[in-house]
Amino acid sequence: MTALATNLDAGLLAAIAAVLGLIIGSFLNVVIYRVPKMMERQWALECAELTGVPAAPAEKLNLLTPRSRCSGCGHPISWHENIPVLSYVFLRGKCSACGAPYGIRYPLVEALTGGLFFFCVWRWGWSMTALAWCGFSATLLALAAIDWDTTLLPDDLTLPLMWAGLVAAAVQWNPAVDLPTALWGAVAGYLSLWAVYWAFKLATGKDGMGYGDFKLFAALGAWFGWPALVPMILMASVIGAIVGIALKFSSGLREGGYIPFGPFLAGAGFTALIFGPQSILRAVGL
Ligand SMILES: [Zn+2]
Repeated sequence: MTALATNLDAGLLAAIAAVLGLIIGSFLNVVIYRVPKMMERQWALECAELTGVPAAPAEKLNLLTPRSRCSGCGHPISWHENIPVLSYVFLRGKCSACGAPYGIRYPLVEALTGGLFFFCVWRWGWSMTALAWCGFSATLLALAAIDWDTTLLPDDLTLPLMWAGLVAAAVQWNPAVDLPTALWGAVAGYLSLWAVYWAFKLATGKDGMGYGDFKLFAALGAWFGWPALVPMILMASVIGAIVGIALKFSSGLREGGYIPFGPFLAGAGFTALIFGPQSILRAVGL
């Protein structure tokens, strides 16, 4: 592998990573679409157990089965209709059977994942550090999209992301932070938003955010260390407020006026990944 790595130049390796990222991005689209549905199934089963009323029978659903198909007509998506980004372009964003439009989100998630993987390998070479940050990026992107769609941040993604951040610091795949810095980052990340949540709730009687936000911020603390928490929360809050006001004026708000906070935390995480956490403070003149 060393000989290969020295023979191929960094750009080529990053390009290979980008292609892998496109494929992982295609899988992330499945994760984004199905994980909330799988959670709903689970809740329905738990309710059925509690009430004794059997849940409606449903088709098996996990990340691998059934195969992807058009949500309009059920047309199964064949392999050549499932090539990241390219298929979307060739099919002009429509189902080949019924012509129902596919969202621009699918190729966007694929292209973003490809771009993030390219960045990680270009920045850290063909290394465990790059692999760790690729995993971080893919998980964070999936969380942002799921939260945007459903206002849910599944524990199945936030908690592994946090543990992985602690492990990456412990084994120094993430040499930017040591284990105490990562550990206190996770603790302070969780507790800071938990405290804001309860202060807001006691003052207004409303839920300002969800417990998933605390766990996601804990994960970001584990990956970037506690000193990065202030810049990240500043950035997420400011951009979240701007987008919230913009949506309010364009009446793009969903029912109840709730704006998920996770996508903005994720945006701050990606900014910290690409430019470094301190760049956010410099950008706001601190
Ligand atoms: Zn169709």
